[in-house]
Amino acid sequence: MSRFAIEPHPSPVSASERAGLLESPAFGTVFSDHMARIDWRAEGVGWHDHRLVPYGPLELMPATSVLHYAQEIFEGLKAYRWPDGSIRTFRPTANAERFGLSARRLALPELPVEDFLDSLSALVEMDQGWVPTGVGTSLYLRPFMFASESFIGVRAAHEVSYLVIASPVGAYFKGGVAPVSIWVDQRHHRAGPGGTGSAKCGGNYAGSLVSQELAYAHGCEQVLFLDALTSSNLEELGGMNVVVVMADGSVVTPPTSGTILEGVTRSSLLQLIRDRDLEVDERPVELAELLAGIKSGQVAEVFACGTAAVVTPVGWLAGEDFEVAVGDSQPGALTMSLYEELTGIQYGLREDKHGWTHRLV
Ligand SMILES: *Cc1c(COP(=O)(O)O)cnc(C)c1O
Repeated sequence: MSRFAIEPHPSPVSASERAGLLESPAFGTVFSDHMARIDWRAEGVGWHDHRLVPYGPLELMPATSVLHYAQEIFEGLKAYRWPDGSIRTFRPTANAERFGLSARRLALPELPVEDFLDSLSALVEMDQGWVPTGVGTSLYLRPFMFASESFIGVRAAHEVSYLVIASPVGAYFKGGVAPVSIWVDQRHHRAGPGGTGSAKCGGNYAGSLVSQELAYAHGCEQVLFLDALTSSNLEELGGMNVVVVMADGSVVTPPTSGTILEGVTRSSLLQLIRDRDLEVDERPVELAELLAGIKSGQVAEVFACGTAAVVTPVGWLAGEDFEVAVGDSQPGALTMSLYEELTGIQYGLREDKHGWTHRLV
């Protein structure tokens, strides 16, 4: 039995209106009828009041701590409708554990893994009608935690809220998987040694938006960051990890040693690559080495990876003093076959050898 008390939405979206919304939802604009919530108080009670409530505005005092000092973390995962009628998610324990790591780094209380998993099941069970059925569609789940105490002194908050909201998403790439162009920011850094780079926190994103703007200004879709110490090694994109495929089939990717977010998609893909007896080398990758490899043909493919798009082929790389096409700017063969394999597992169309899928409903 779920410990989540249920306060049903007084006027949920009608089934016919919902069907319209699910037809081609634009990412992150439409939300299901309910949200999960658990609150925390330092004094005495700890985590309390597990509940499902109508999706709607939060009432916050202007002095609410998160609005001033950004003490906030989040996660992102998806619920998929399977051919057998069940609804599953992918490696949620990995997200729950990463949420714990992020919480520790941001001086937030750790939410028990069980509460994290239960909040997903409770919300998806309640709002299962919001899980779309089309190929490549899913219900995006966004757990987050923030300092909800009304206090503008600088210290870790004594009152914190945890919520999960859910947003139906269409196939990320409508006309098939399309390569993106990437601007390499040689001026700003996303994270530094000892900083918050390996935590999934809103603050990291706030600091990366100016680079994203720079990318747009240069006609690119995404931004790639370099390491803060030397500005010479690849780190990651604003919200995706980066992987380089060599012409000999081996794969190199920067190690997640503190300044890079450890993606669940990244670790799953690296496992699938190892399962194919291909070599995976987690080591620093110099921008200069990458550009030389692309020029010489030693680098065959570059892709970015994360929950939202799963795999995004990189077709072009540009920076202050370079502009190169990766291969023939078409999605690479390994990139596409990994995309097929991982999404096949997530949607219940391929064997789940590693036990990564998790039934919610
Ligand atoms: C969430 C995120 C990723 C991708 O992680 P997944 O678990 O694969 O979704 C990569 N980089 C950053 C900065 C992120 O916030």
